[in-house]
Amino acid sequence: MARAYNFSAGPAILPEEVLKQAQAELLDFNGTGMSIMEMSHRGKDYSAVHQEAKDNLKKLLNIPDNYSVLFMTGGASTQFSLIPMNLLGEGQTADYITAGAWSSKAIKAAKKLGISVNELANTAKDVPTRVPGNDLEFTPGAAYVHICSNETISGAQVKEFPKTDAPLIADMSSDILSRPLDVSQFGMIYAGAQKNLAPAGVTLVIIRNDLAEKSPDTLPELFQYKHFMENDSLSNTIPTFPVYMIMLVTRWLLEKGGLEGVQKMNEEKAAKLYAAIDASDFYNGTAVPEFRSPMNVTFRLPTEDLEAQFVKEAAAKGMTSLKGHRSVGGIRASIYNAFPAAGVDALIEFMKEFEAANA
Ligand SMILES: *Cc1c(COP(=O)(O)O)cnc(C)c1O
Repeated sequence: MARAYNFSAGPAILPEEVLKQAQAELLDFNGTGMSIMEMSHRGKDYSAVHQEAKDNLKKLLNIPDNYSVLFMTGGASTQFSLIPMNLLGEGQTADYITAGAWSSKAIKAAKKLGISVNELANTAKDVPTRVPGNDLEFTPGAAYVHICSNETISGAQVKEFPKTDAPLIADMSSDILSRPLDVSQFGMIYAGAQKNLAPAGVTLVIIRNDLAEKSPDTLPELFQYKHFMENDSLSNTIPTFPVYMIMLVTRWLLEKGGLEGVQKMNEEKAAKLYAAIDASDFYNGTAVPEFRSPMNVTFRLPTEDLEAQFVKEAAAKGMTSLKGHRSVGGIRASIYNAFPAAGVDALIEFMKEFEAANA
């Protein structure tokens, strides 16, 4: 059976080479006669995997020495609560930039804890979709500023991060490792694995050590960044298989020329697809052009019926999961790092045929 061109927003496509490697090692990892998922998270085989996953991430992102790479659980959504619980001291406040569904959830989780947070801007309801510009008034003394780098649902991406005095914290779940990044601009970066990194089950957190130190001792240990930092994320049983997959995916990225190489591939794929949208009056991009995401390409057809027909006919041709998120409708083509250029070409070809038959 042929592999589908899988446009799913997440859990999402993984590199075929990586899946084959995982398959080859599934029954016998490193001559142990066991799968990586069947062995101790404290043994030497898993330890080497854990270390390589961290080392590869450090290499790809040039992570400075005063940052820690943590592997946590509960998805990016759990971070929405853990961030204020760990980083907001007594009587402190934080700034939030809201640009879509995910950053809306982040501020909502913070408010739920009963803390006063400042929403500096909110473009979540804007159509066409966009992220706020950088004309923001930060709150003096704020403990941190929270932003989402890529709104997965609307398809709008932050192109230039705001300069802040307070530590900038970014939810990069849907564009982590898709472009080079200056980690020193951030106090913390986090991402659920299932879009651009690995299967679901692990959450990557890259945090400046002095911030991790702020975790209050009154928090349960497994909610504390400090505890994860001090125990190298191994205080309890870690999701070993997802971390192993991060190791393989980051190895694959290093082989592809690191983040510069990957960004080039991503930009080529996205540019082609957006050009096809712009070349036609039948398709309409959902995001403001200057904020268009190279990861989640969102667009509309003239009617919802045509959109449903488009999704159905594309699926029959092996192009799956093109339906936009239920909250916004339309079409969403998620073309993460692992999505092949040939799949983008196939979609463009289909878009032309569909328009010719239905315009
Ligand atoms: C998918 C996604 C999340 C939620 O991730 P979970 O791991 O399901 O909690 C949060 N933020 C962004 C930007 C996402 O794309």
